[in-house]
Amino acid sequence: MASAELIQNLENTIDNIPDFPIEGIQFKDISPIFLQPQLYEEVIKDFVEFSKGKIDVVCGIESRGYLFGIAIAVALEVPFILIRKKGKLPPPFIGQIYDLEYGNSEIEMKTDQLKPGQRVLIHDDLLATGGTTEAAAKLVEKQGAIPAQFSFLIELDGLNGTEKLKKFNAEIYSILKY
Ligand code: AMP
Repeated sequence: MASAELIQNLENTIDNIPDFPIEGIQFKDISPIFLQPQLYEEVIKDFVEFSKGKIDVVCGIESRGYLFGIAIAVALEVPFILIRKKGKLPPPFIGQIYDLEYGNSEIEMKTDQLKPGQRVLIHDDLLATGGTTEAAAKLVEKQGAIPAQFSFLIELDGLNGTEKLKKFNAEIYSILKY
């Protein structure tokens, strides 16, 4: 879907920071994309092409999932719902615990925004182990809605995050794979 030119521009723009925030992690810093409005626009166009006519709602995962997620929703003229880290949302909400490399974490979503049967795009900036996205999809399913699509700017191929998402039988799209 994304042109070779777009992929190349993104690869040249995204910074790789070794050993951040902890040793052994190669951190992908996407913030330079926002210095180039035209590049940002092309990214949104590409995500929109993937989801056009296929979803009713976009759910973005805090916080970098909001950076593209809201623009995708606006372009598709569908609602955007925030999936937040624990403790940020006022009630009513539900939570989902998921495993991290060490310990666990929890994300939450309001229960008065998504409707049963709605087809949902779950969006984040980066797919690593897939734990966060899997938890987001569970929150969607708990409310009787359908995780229909997943999209990411970056997928870290070696971590097999897509394995955790297979059970949802949803379309998965990543613009860049490392
Ligand atoms: P995971 O649950 O392992 O798929 O982790 C995905 C979340 O962690 C995303 O919200 C990313 O923003 C963040 N993340 C994980 N690994 C990296 C990385 N190498 N560079 C930047 N962000 C990362």
